[in-house]
Amino acid sequence: MLSGGLSSRLLEDAVESFAALPGIGRKTALRLALHVLGAPRENVEHAAASFIALKDSVKFCPSCGMISDDGRCPFCTDARRDHSTVCVVESIRDVLSIENTGQYKGLYHILGGIISPMDGIGPSDLRIRELVERLAEGSVREVILALSTSMEGETTSFYIYKQISQFDVTVSAIARGVGFGDDLEYTDELTLGRSIAGRQLFKP
Ligand code: ZN
Repeated sequence: MLSGGLSSRLLEDAVESFAALPGIGRKTALRLALHVLGAPRENVEHAAASFIALKDSVKFCPSCGMISDDGRCPFCTDARRDHSTVCVVESIRDVLSIENTGQYKGLYHILGGIISPMDGIGPSDLRIRELVERLAEGSVREVILALSTSMEGETTSFYIYKQISQFDVTVSAIARGVGFGDDLEYTDELTLGRSIAGRQLFKP
C-alpha cells in the first residue's frame, strides 16, 4: 500500500504535486487530485496548458518587474497613473494587495524578495540596481517603501534608503497599522489602504 492508504501511484503523484503548493496540506491535496480525476478532460487539459503557458510565456516589465503579457506592464503604460511616485514592494502579490485597496494610483517597483543572509539573498539578488537606474532618469519624486516590518524588511528598507539618498526624492514608508513581521499580503484592505494614505517620511 502507498502512503496514506492510497492504492494508486498515479494518484499519489498528483497528490504530491498539489501538496507541494503553498498553503495546501495533504488532505486538501487529495481532495484536489480526486476532483481532477472526476473533472472533464478538456478542463484538465486547459488547466495544465495554462500552467505551462504561464511558465513559458509570461513577460516581466523591464521597468517595475510586474508580470505582463507583452513587455511593459499596464501600470507603467497607464498615463492616468502618477508616474512621479513609486511604491517599492517585495513581490507581485504585494502589488495585487495594494491595488485591492483602491488607495494608490502611482507606479510600483518589485524587488523580487528581501535581503535575507540566512537564505543567501543579498542586495545583488534583488532589483535594487534597477530602482537606482529608474531614479537616475529623474522623473520620480517620491519613493514609498512598503516592505514587511520583519528584521529582513527593515534591513532592506534601510539598504535601499542608503542607495537612493543621492537623489532628490522624498523617501517615505507606509504607516505601521501593520503588526510586526506581518506580510502585506495578510493585511486587510482597509488597514493597508490607511497605511499607504498615512505614510510617513522614512527615518532610518
Ligand atoms: Zn511596469
